[in-house]
Amino acid sequence: MTLEPFVCDVNPTGLAKDGGTMQRRALSDMRGVFLDEAARAAMDPDTEVYEFHSAGVPALSTELAFGVSICMPGKVGAEFFMTKGHYHAVLDCAEVYICQSGRGIMLMETPDGRWAAPELLPGQAVYVPGGWAHRTVNIANEPFITLFSLRADSGHDYQTIESKGFRKLIVAEGDGYAVIDNPKWQ
Ligand code: MN
Repeated sequence: MTLEPFVCDVNPTGLAKDGGTMQRRALSDMRGVFLDEAARAAMDPDTEVYEFHSAGVPALSTELAFGVSICMPGKVGAEFFMTKGHYHAVLDCAEVYICQSGRGIMLMETPDGRWAAPELLPGQAVYVPGGWAHRTVNIANEPFITLFSLRADSGHDYQTIESKGFRKLIVAEGDGYAVIDNPKWQ
């Protein structure tokens, strides 16, 4: 069965219609994700880090999931707020993110050690190829908002990143940021 043609506003309210879903992650959901776990634990656990809203599209290989991801401004220690990051459960599924507002980085890496950390401004898109883990990082003082779309049955593998982390971290440096090696990476 396929969907009928539909139009929705690409914002949280529009995406919530007709079976859309929303996930919100606060600092209490991010234990061990940031390098400075003591700094995270000392912050208000209810502080929101990010949320993502998905349209109500069936998880079928023939469908396209899409929605909006909002990463809030903030830091844990020197490290900017970011999403947990993931591979896709169907590893080879690609994804596209289009920056709507704010300024951020799409941090990406592959199991064989390649990595990329392009900066994104409104109006720019990043293509995340199949097989690349990815997370968004907010390097500015306003929400970093992206639209995403991918094959609807791609799924999420959070576990690999939860256990290994990313090879690189994005940390504040002066008025900007630096990409550094993650000393905890295994
Ligand atoms: Mn993804």
